[in-house]
Amino acid sequence: MIQRDSLIQYCDEVLNAAAWRDYAPNGLQVEGRAQIQRLVTGVTASAALIEAAIAWGADALLVHHGYFWKNEHPVLTGMKYRRIKQLIQNDINLIAYHLPLDDHPIYGNNAALAEALGLTDIQRFGSQQLAWAGALPAPCTVAQLHAVLTKQLARAPLVVGDTDRLIQRVGVCSGGAQDYLTDAAALGLDAYISGEISERSTHIAREEGMAYFAAGHHATERAGVQRLGAHLAERFGIEVRYIDIDNPV
Ligand SMILES: [Zn+2]
Repeated sequence: MIQRDSLIQYCDEVLNAAAWRDYAPNGLQVEGRAQIQRLVTGVTASAALIEAAIAWGADALLVHHGYFWKNEHPVLTGMKYRRIKQLIQNDINLIAYHLPLDDHPIYGNNAALAEALGLTDIQRFGSQQLAWAGALPAPCTVAQLHAVLTKQLARAPLVVGDTDRLIQRVGVCSGGAQDYLTDAAALGLDAYISGEISERSTHIAREEGMAYFAAGHHATERAGVQRLGAHLAERFGIEVRYIDIDNPV
């Protein structure tokens, strides 16, 4: 059992949360009970995840995608009202970390991606230095990297680029970071991997002579919250359960 405020203070410090210019507030977003023994982790605080947290008797929900995004209509109605009502009625804390959890060198989504690919000689690039670039252990073809990503993320990426093309230096950034393709091209990378794809991404990749892998927003952001959750379980002796709410995007 840990005090909610102590847990959040610890996460804020470990993730250096105050340092980020983010699109949503990091830390405690909806207040629930003061003590936490059961913590559910997940990618997005959807109604399905809240239901699963209630069923397990969770005291808190720790997610990558919480609420109150910049430019969102600031009223509690409809879907947003129903989600928050469920949290409050069940006295469950909602804790969210967005960019700090993409970036963190150990618990971050991008660190997990770089590790899954065995990248070395890491350099950072893109807005707020969020994206990671590095060298694969050995040159491989687009088809081979596709197979590695499919195995590591349990999901086949959508790929732009000739399957026989050889690649060695690649960039990675989880989620909806497809527009760092241009930054990746400026670095002279052979390939870039993110979660989502836009129509323009195809043309950028082709015209910059790069391969692009859209490996799934959800699929590339499952790791960070699980890594942080495992650390919190060990450090504070609380029960932590990751619940995956499947998402094809
Ligand atoms: Zn995301």
